[in-house]
Amino acid sequence: MKKVAKVAIIGAGAAGLCALRVFTDSSANSSTSFCVVCYEQGSRVGGTWIYTDQVGQDENGLPVHSSMYENLKTNLPKECMAFPDYPFPELPSFVRHEEVQKYLEDYATHFDVLKYIEFQTIVTLVEPISDDTNQFGTSWKVTTKSVTDSSLENTSVFDAVLICNGHYAVPLFPDIPGLDTFSGEILHSHDYRRPTAFLDKRVLVLGAASSGQDISIEVASVAKQVFLSHNKPLLKSPLPDNLQQRPGIKNINKGRVEFLDGSQEDVDFLLLCTGYHYRYTFLSAACGVEVTENRVTPLYKHLVHTKHPNLAILGICKVVIPFPMFHMQASFCRAVLDGSLILPSEAEINRETEEDYRSRLASGLPHRHAHVLNEDQFSYNDELADMAKVPKLTDHYKQLNQATRNLRQSDLVGYKRLNFVLDKEDDTYKIQNSNFS
Ligand code: FAD
Repeated sequence: MKKVAKVAIIGAGAAGLCALRVFTDSSANSSTSFCVVCYEQGSRVGGTWIYTDQVGQDENGLPVHSSMYENLKTNLPKECMAFPDYPFPELPSFVRHEEVQKYLEDYATHFDVLKYIEFQTIVTLVEPISDDTNQFGTSWKVTTKSVTDSSLENTSVFDAVLICNGHYAVPLFPDIPGLDTFSGEILHSHDYRRPTAFLDKRVLVLGAASSGQDISIEVASVAKQVFLSHNKPLLKSPLPDNLQQRPGIKNINKGRVEFLDGSQEDVDFLLLCTGYHYRYTFLSAACGVEVTENRVTPLYKHLVHTKHPNLAILGICKVVIPFPMFHMQASFCRAVLDGSLILPSEAEINRETEEDYRSRLASGLPHRHAHVLNEDQFSYNDELADMAKVPKLTDHYKQLNQATRNLRQSDLVGYKRLNFVLDKEDDTYKIQNSNFS
């Protein structure tokens, strides 16, 4: 007889939907059948892709979750953003946020997983309880509340918990000498919606990861002058005439900013594209999950709790192609929970995890980038696939990722107007009407 395992999934963004799809896939050859419940504090699926004009708190008094801005287009082509088992419809390669939200809704409908989601239900507490009947020795007590009536509280016990709560919702404000003296306005990219407030202003955008790059170009379309301040190698692409790159900030004195190279500028607006915190306030201390300077421990493969492999956090890895990675992570978790993947001993897991972390530091990554995978994402996905005994991702993902990176380097302002098409002759993507590949 098949074993039945009860699994709680926290969040119905891309990661939570993917976990639902993978755990309810009846075609998977498994000795366990999963009984899943997904708790979602919002009233729709899509997570950060649900654009809202609101900032601060939503109508239920919860912090606004989405970090989308009005005119956001994806920074990856839809051909490589897609889950491996569900392509995007016919659309240009770089799509608006509404198209991604619609894609996620369609994905949920196609795989018939909406019925497992309890909307407007927030998880407030997850606690371990020791349980000899659970193969991992621990079960999980999950407490939820209705977001419209907090007196409606419910507690259930699960064999496993998959945390898919998103990692772009709690803004990280940098520690800059003199920031508190700044006489202009400050906005974090989490609250950025459109450029109108920057009309004719001198704007400093701090941080040149994806959001900083995109937003500085959008703001430059209306601002008098934009300074993009960052410590990365200089962007090589042509940029708008009124956008200059500067190194990181040394200090701020009222309206004047001094940069690390000693240059100074007067600015009216500080736009912080400085990233986000990992935050798991609903995990009780007994769960043993810690976040120190943006490293989450103790996790094996940036994913499963080393002591309690029936507790996992999906989507922690950064500088990755998220949706296909979620598919691999969810497949790995399923294999762990149905017993088809026997994990190494805890000592071996700890050794491997530490070795991976040390090798990242040795390669020059700072501690706060402990979950940045970048090029390693492809071997990471392959390793998860091998261990879970599921098909690997096709090479298209890697090829498109590299091609997009090249495009950004040569034309950061215009690359989202281009389209990729699959050349069936050699099975690689090419830029339409261009020799670029
Ligand atoms: P989310 O989408 O954040 O979903 C988490 C869900 O969990 C939310 O619905 C939230 O309401 C719910 N939740 C949280 N806490 C609780 C709780 N306690 N109880 C119940 N529910 C809870 N990726 C790309 O592939 N291409 C891009 O071009 C791209 N651009 C991006 C641009 C921006 C501005 C941002 C912020 C991200 C971008 N990303 C992009 C990355 C994006 O975050 C991922 O694609 C992906 O959507 C993340 O999915 P997720 O499920 O991990 O998180």
